[in-house]
Amino acid sequence: MHGVQTIDAHYAGQEGFAAVYMIEDRGEVAFVETNTSHAVPRMLAALEAAGRAPEDVKFVIITHVHLDHAGGASALMKACPNATLLAHPKAAKNIVEPGRLVESAKQVYGEEQYNKLYGVIEPIAAERVRAVDDEEVFELGGRELHFFETRGHANHHVSIHDRAANGIFTGDTFGICYPHQQGNGLFVFPTTTPTDFDPQAALESLDRIASMGAERVFLTHFGERTDIAPMASQLRPQIERYGSVVEEADASGREGEELDRFCAAQILAEFRSAYQAHGLEGDPSEDPLAKLDVELNGQGVAFAVKKRRYKRAKTAQGS
Ligand SMILES: [Zn+2]
Repeated sequence: MHGVQTIDAHYAGQEGFAAVYMIEDRGEVAFVETNTSHAVPRMLAALEAAGRAPEDVKFVIITHVHLDHAGGASALMKACPNATLLAHPKAAKNIVEPGRLVESAKQVYGEEQYNKLYGVIEPIAAERVRAVDDEEVFELGGRELHFFETRGHANHHVSIHDRAANGIFTGDTFGICYPHQQGNGLFVFPTTTPTDFDPQAALESLDRIASMGAERVFLTHFGERTDIAPMASQLRPQIERYGSVVEEADASGREGEELDRFCAAQILAEFRSAYQAHGLEGDPSEDPLAKLDVELNGQGVAFAVKKRRYKRAKTAQGS
């Protein structure tokens, strides 16, 4: 037993979509990821089933601030009075003062859908939030949790190596691997989102995780896996291809909606060919979970093109 329990958050009412993890060691507990406020009762139930109280929770950890990871943080912190929230320095600011996160999510989803998905997100007292440095280590019971920065999916992303479990909590850095899509063998694909996908950084983070000698990864989407090397070798060419789509789209001079459409089509084609290359049957774009990811990946790639052009224009202006 490695002391790490996978809890299905039932994100957006779906099974096998997003996980949160509970680590228990010598009476101390940490949660990794918080999903949304709707998932908090499930986390507290798992705690109770393990014979622990909310007072035993020492750390609440988020890999990054996207709301399927951090949306439940304020509700969970409220329920666990002794917990300290650990996050990347750039994430810590946005979790203490979540106004901007909430506003942008409401813009994307609309008020009604936002409430349904995320529920209530409140500020968290700054003294309960601890920004973690790259390579920082925290003790939980008798084990060490080693934090390291993993940029690429987001510029404020950390992963955590639990040395006792010899497992890494990878957030959104080691791809998405849905259990229901593994019928004919492994299929894992990268996740990019607006607004800061960086293919080069994503490749570096992938290599860093794959080379740590861990025995298992704990994916937020979804679950514990031990086939790290095959996963890395599926992810690498796909991330490289996403990088090439950024280059091609940039060079093509396409802008606005035309650019968005181009990126969406390229990423959909890439997803289908990666899916079929692994002998999987059917059209992955009909899978409701994957469909959303593919759309987001197209948007992430288009955004990367716009950002690169913006930076280039700024450099040209000499500012
Ligand atoms: Zn996610």
